[in-house]
Amino acid sequence: MKDALIFANWKSNKTKNDAKNWLEEVSVQIFPQNLEIVILAPFTLLDFISSYIKMNSLLLKVGAQDISPFESGPYTGEVSASQVKEFAEFSLIGHSERRSNFGESNEMIQKKVERAESSGLIPVVCISRISQLESLGSNRDIIIAYEPPFAISTSGPDASPENPDLVSEFVQKIKEKIQSKVIYGGSVDAQNIKEYLSIENVDGVLVGGKSLEPQSFINILKNAV
Ligand code: PEP
Repeated sequence: MKDALIFANWKSNKTKNDAKNWLEEVSVQIFPQNLEIVILAPFTLLDFISSYIKMNSLLLKVGAQDISPFESGPYTGEVSASQVKEFAEFSLIGHSERRSNFGESNEMIQKKVERAESSGLIPVVCISRISQLESLGSNRDIIIAYEPPFAISTSGPDASPENPDLVSEFVQKIKEKIQSKVIYGGSVDAQNIKEYLSIENVDGVLVGGKSLEPQSFINILKNAV
């Protein structure tokens, strides 16, 4: 049974009360020890979730969904990596929804990765093309998420998970370029999780839609082993 990272990307969803209900339902479950489970929460919930986890001694971790490309300072509306680091260990960077809706370039993503690293956050960098790795260098303590936009469950009526054989090929290409952990994201659910985790060099998954309802996320965790 290999160790696996399971990231729950809540996106722009959930109030504090929703988060509390989710945590109450998910935390009474006993999770397999080999799973490292990380909630990628909106900024507004980082403090609440990290406190809840500490208070209840839960084996869950916290990450943000983005960080500023700048250090703290005069950048109205931005949240810096060092502010996030007070509550979280990880930050997602360069999700395709940010690249397409907010015009994030590879250069900006590179700056965010540097900010995360200098603040001690582990960057989880989303890519869908090998060329997006170019600015990242070859040996870093980062996690690469292979997530083709068409596979994201909310991307449209034709959304479907990437063929596991193609995931495997893509992951080998990533490994030729960079020594890092690699996860897969895109329409992961309780039925297909085992197949993705069984792919050589896939170290985990990024789960969006199916992480929102506690029971569908619990089913994913149960089927992960
Ligand atoms: C995502 O967008 O990061 C994601 C994993 O979404 P979904 O699981 O809903 O495809």
